[in-house]
Order: sequence, then structure tokens, then C-alpha cells
Amino acid sequence: MTTVKSTCPYCGVGCGVLLTPDGKGGLTVKGDPDHPANFGRLCSKGSALAETVGTDHRLLAPRVDGQDTDWDSALDLVADRFRAVIDEHGPDAVAFYVSGQLLTEDYYVANKLMKGFIGSANIDTNSRLCMSSTVAGHKRAFGTDTVPGTYEDLEEADLIVLTGSNLAWCHPVLYQRILAARKARPEMKLVVIDPRRTASCDGADLHLKLAAGSDVALFNALLAEIDRRGMLNQDWLDAHVEGAEDAIASAHACDPAITGLSDADLQAFFDLWIGTQKVVTIFSQGVNQSSAGTDKVNAILNCHLATGRIGTLGCGPFSVTGQPNAMGGREVGGLANMLACHLDLENAEHRDAVQGFWSSPAMPEKPGLKAVDMFKALSEGRIKALWVIHSNPAVTLPDADKVRDAVKGCDFVVVSDITERTDTARLADVLLPASAWSEKSGTVTNSDRTISRQRTVLEAPGQAQPDWWIMAQVAQRMGYAGFDWKEPVEIFREYAALSGIAGQFGRDFDISNLSQIDGGAYDAMQPFRWPQGPAKEGGRFFADGAFYHAGGKAKMLALTHRPPVSVQDGARPFRLNTGRLRDQWHTMTRTALSPRLSAHLPEPFVDMHPEDAAHLGLKPADLVRLTSPHGTAILRLRQTDDVAKGDVFVPMHWTGETAPAARIDALVAPVVDPISGQPESKASTVSAEAFVPA
Ligand code: SF4
Repeated sequence: MTTVKSTCPYCGVGCGVLLTPDGKGGLTVKGDPDHPANFGRLCSKGSALAETVGTDHRLLAPRVDGQDTDWDSALDLVADRFRAVIDEHGPDAVAFYVSGQLLTEDYYVANKLMKGFIGSANIDTNSRLCMSSTVAGHKRAFGTDTVPGTYEDLEEADLIVLTGSNLAWCHPVLYQRILAARKARPEMKLVVIDPRRTASCDGADLHLKLAAGSDVALFNALLAEIDRRGMLNQDWLDAHVEGAEDAIASAHACDPAITGLSDADLQAFFDLWIGTQKVVTIFSQGVNQSSAGTDKVNAILNCHLATGRIGTLGCGPFSVTGQPNAMGGREVGGLANMLACHLDLENAEHRDAVQGFWSSPAMPEKPGLKAVDMFKALSEGRIKALWVIHSNPAVTLPDADKVRDAVKGCDFVVVSDITERTDTARLADVLLPASAWSEKSGTVTNSDRTISRQRTVLEAPGQAQPDWWIMAQVAQRMGYAGFDWKEPVEIFREYAALSGIAGQFGRDFDISNLSQIDGGAYDAMQPFRWPQGPAKEGGRFFADGAFYHAGGKAKMLALTHRPPVSVQDGARPFRLNTGRLRDQWHTMTRTALSPRLSAHLPEPFVDMHPEDAAHLGLKPADLVRLTSPHGTAILRLRQTDDVAKGDVFVPMHWTGETAPAARIDALVAPVVDPISGQPESKASTVSAEAFVPA
């Protein structure tokens, strides 16, 4: 059997895999030694991919109102119902909720259809829950959403700071690369900043157990100390940065005591960070998923800008994305407030250029509804037709019970997925069977901007079809031109040609040299990182001090600490932190199929400090009911001082399908960052009590 190179469908590390079909519908999976993300490594999830293929769990035919049907009937119905709603209520009465699981070609088609032809920007993605605060922070600081560094920087740094990131479990191969680098260079230091002790703390030189939500105060304190010690890079600031004076003044005004850290810990952190030129600060969901997420991102960026520690080998701020194609989604404008190729929806010249390229009849002038607001509009009847593509918002969005009710109450709900066994798919009027990983073909972009191929090695079962095909069929049935692609390579060519427009507006996302790529070259495409060419040495941005704001300078922001919105009090004394486990992915649609992965931590649980458990009269393994104003969840108690007193940690993976009483997002308050719209998924407040089954 021929071995095919593809990419892992889980996290944003984007590891290359070698897939060998067994001729009986199965696969063997190995790490690709030539892929620049992993050089042959795989984590537990990637290693178990072969256990997750098969047809048992699959949706095999289009289904309308619970009855199997043919594609023509289902597609005509979707097109007719969306057209009818748009005609009666306008384009903003429909919405798409898509996913960082989509391939770039799929994402491109979804955005072209909604923004260019339906004429609404009501397309948002579950990546809103993952990294939208970073997108907003990058745009504020740099002028575009551009990740400055590369994976090599993690190995070349002399100090790695992990903040709001359990890299060991959530991006395991990157963590393995750091461990290997530390073995080769024992002088390389690792600092972890997290209210919880995680697997990433093993072997760290310093763990700062900061108070939940106090990241701005910590990085403001660092910036103030950089100034106090005379370590500002004044020449760099003068030449390349605006706003430093105000940002530094705000930093001095911020009280470091807010962090809850001892002076000794703070000084140890300052000594390491300020005393090390080659420092990479890695951040992820612990920073992003906050009502102050964008400010937290900018607080980190401020410190790197103040010292000029950006864009050079082993040096810079580095956001790691949760999903396999969160970055590809950013490149095609996959969020409700973006246009493709790093162009701006609210810029009339950018809009006109994209509209001209698409020859499209309509373009929205304002951003659409971000995820939480989209489902609020659904619950209020303002959205009357919803298409959910590879996502499960009825269990993953904050206030999930209300979201589930909103989906249930919507006039017309379409779900494209590989399975009907999700909380959201159960509520659909129309179910459309989509091809799964290993059955579809296209590209994805990982956290360091490396574009890789996913390739088809297995035949899609039943009537399953690729997402781009499904959406293009609906678009054509709605009467739109420009959706008659036959193969993903044709979409890639169009998208690459569009990126040339971004180049004309001074954006570095320009892969238009690939706009004539033929099918053979697309099939053979090797992973490559943008920007291409010699302009950005090593594939990094900003070492030259050239930023994307008018005038070419970066911006430092004056920031003040804002605590989490939900308040701990006598009624709800616990701060609820949610997060991922090592061996599960999202709502377990795929990973639950692997007995090996499910054996790691087989049931939902709540981690609570032993003193809190004793205070509540709880014993190890008791059942605990957590309650917030939005819902309840029942979980098995694990007593551990990994969490601070007053905090509880609960994994996010279980659903109405796998553990109906443990849908943790049912408790999460629908509070968002005012700039990014990213939910505050790690700081709701709850009460806790023993639960005794009747
Ligand atoms: Fe897949 Fe991420 Fe694991 Fe790599 S680190 S094998 S991309 S889950």
C-alpha cells in the first residue's frame, strides 16, 4: 500500500503524519520525519489516530427531519430555505457557525458565500473561543494579526515563559521540542505562569501561581521593572514604537500585589526575563479566554516591544493556536470581523478590492455577530436560519443550556458533520454527511504559519462529501456564480490569487506565486511557511521594525488591570477554571473512539483543594454538584493542591452524548472580552456541594 503524507487533525502544532491504508478501510499512522513541525514526533492523540477511523459512528446520508434522503433534495431544501429567509428578513437573518477543523479551502468557500454573496458578515467560528483575543491584540500592537516567530525560536531561546498554556498536554509535540532543546542546553530556563500546577510545571525552573485573571498586572509589573532597571531599548522604541510613554506610566501605576505572588517570586521572574536577551513568551487559552483577554495579550506584547525582543532567532511573543486550522481560518477571514488574506472588513478599499475579485453582488460593511452574540440573536429570533459546520455549540458555548434551547427554537437549522451523535446535530432539521479527516483533501496552517497538505487516503463512506462541495452546491442552487469548482486545487488557486491583492495593500500574506499551481504540484506540495522569499529572514516578522500601522510603527498600549467579571462571594465561592486533557480532543467525537485515549482519565471530574473539600465535608471520589446562575454539573471529586484554595478545575470535553450531567459550559457565564468577543471560559463563579444520587 502507498504511504501518503498528511497532517494531524487535532491541535495547532500541525504535525506531519505518514498514513498507510490497509486496504480494509483502516490505516497505520506514523510521524513524518520530514515535517518541520514535528520531525517524526507524535503525541498520544496523534499516535492513536488509526483507532479513530471507521464507519460505525458516521452519518452516511443526508437527512431531513430524521429521514434519510438524497443530496439533491437536501441541498435544494437548504438553498430554498436560506433564500426564503434572506428575501423576507434580509441577509443578517441567517448565520454560519463554522470551525477551526475546516480545511482552508472549506473556510474560503464559507466566507466567500456568506460575506461576498449572501451579503452578511454573520459567519463566526469556534476559533472565537480559542484565539480571537490574540487576533485583536496583534492587530492593536502590529496593525495586522501576524504571529512574529517560528517553532525554531522555541528551541533557540535561552528562556521560555509559558503563560496560560499547559503546553505539555495541549501542544505536546512543541513541549517535546522544548524538552529536547533543554536536554541539549541545560542552561535554557523554563518559567510557567498558571494559577494551577499542570504537567507543564514538571521540570520548570519557576512556577508562578498567579491569581486568576491577574496577567495584566503581572506583565505591567514586568514592564515597570524593565523601566526601573534601565533596560528599555530606547533606540528601538524611538524608531519603531508609539505609545511607550503612556504604557510605561500605566505599568508603574498598577499594583503587583494584585497577582497574589510573593516579592521573591516576582523578583525571580523579573531577574530571569529581564536578564535574558533570547526570551520567548508563549501564550494560549489561559490568556485569551478572558474578559480582559486582548489587554492580557497586549501586556505581553508591550514587554517584548519595550525591549526590542521580537522577530529575531530565539526571541519574541508566541501565541499557540488550539485548533488544527485556526490559523488558516484567520488567513481566509474566518471570523465575523475579518476579510480574507489579512484585509480589513471595515476598510472600504479592502472591501472593494475583494468584492471586485469575487465579482460579488454584495459585501457587508460592518462586522457580523461574534459567536456569543450570534447565539443570543438566535435565542431572540433575530437569526432565523443557521448552518453549523463541524462544531457543537449546544455544548461548547458559554451558557450552553440556553444555547441548546436557542438552536432548538430556531426556525431552520442545518448541521454538516461526520456524525449525528452531537448535541447540536440532534437538533438539526437537516443533517449533511461530511467527509472526515483522511477522506478529504486541502491545506491547513499551523501556529507558526506553516501551510501543509491534508490528503485523501480513505474513501468517504456512504454519501459523505467534502465541505467545500456541500457549500458550493448550496451556493449554486441559490443562484450565485463563482462556485463551480471541481477540485480543491481550483479553490486554492483562487485563494492564492486573492492573496496577491493583500500584497498590493502592503500585507505580507501573499502566496499569489501559487495562483497557477496545477493539480500535480498541489498534490506534491511540501509544507512551507509564509512569508516566502528573502524579505523576512528566517520566516520571522518585525526584526526590521516594519509594522503594519499607518506610519509603520508598532503600538504599545496603556493597560490597567480588570478582574474577571463574575465575582466570588458567599453564594458562589469557587472560581471555575475549564481546560483540556492530554488525551481528549474537544467534544471527543473522534478521541472517544480510542479505548487507549479514553483510559487516561475516563470520567468527568472536578479538581478541588483538599482544605476546600474538607470544609464542604467531601471525601475523595465523592460526587460534587457545581452550580452557577446558568446551570449545574455533577462531577467526581479529585482532591489536589494542584489547584489553589477557592479555585476548581473541570475538563471541558464531556457532552450530552457522553455525560449529560457534566456539560461544564452550561455553568460558564456568557461574558466576553469587549474587543475580541472571546468568552471568559476560565473565571465563572460557582457553588459546590455534595451530590447524593436519589
Ligand atoms: Fe496532533 Fe497536536 Fe499531537 Fe501533533 S501535538 S500529534 S498536531 S495533537
